[in-house]
Amino acid sequence: MKILKIDHIGIAVNSIENGKNFWTDILGLDFEGDEVVEAQKVKTAFFPVGKSEVELLESTAPDGPIAKFIEKKGEGIQHIAFRVENIETALAELKKKGVRLIDETPRNGAGGAKIAFLHPKATSGVLVELCER
Ligand code: ZN
Repeated sequence: MKILKIDHIGIAVNSIENGKNFWTDILGLDFEGDEVVEAQKVKTAFFPVGKSEVELLESTAPDGPIAKFIEKKGEGIQHIAFRVENIETALAELKKKGVRLIDETPRNGAGGAKIAFLHPKATSGVLVELCER
């Protein structure tokens, strides 16, 4: 498995509209636009930072994973995403090593990426996303 870089840091917010001001006006990052990923009941917004990005995540439904995360932990860092060269190879390798996965096969993420989550129980509580674009 080859990890290329930290692709993005996912941050759960109640509202992208209200939350993006800090990242754009105060930190001076560009706002790349937002996108709804219906299957995950989430609206995402990306802010490039060098070769990585900040991703804000807003729930589109009260029962979505981001709504549940905020209910339990409040707004804040929700996941860290590593870009991998080949996501199928990476998942097969992790499975072989006995790592607990949330997604055994990749699903579609924002921006046409293939993504998969590892189980936080396997990573000291950090929700790790693998992505390939
Ligand atoms: Zn992500």
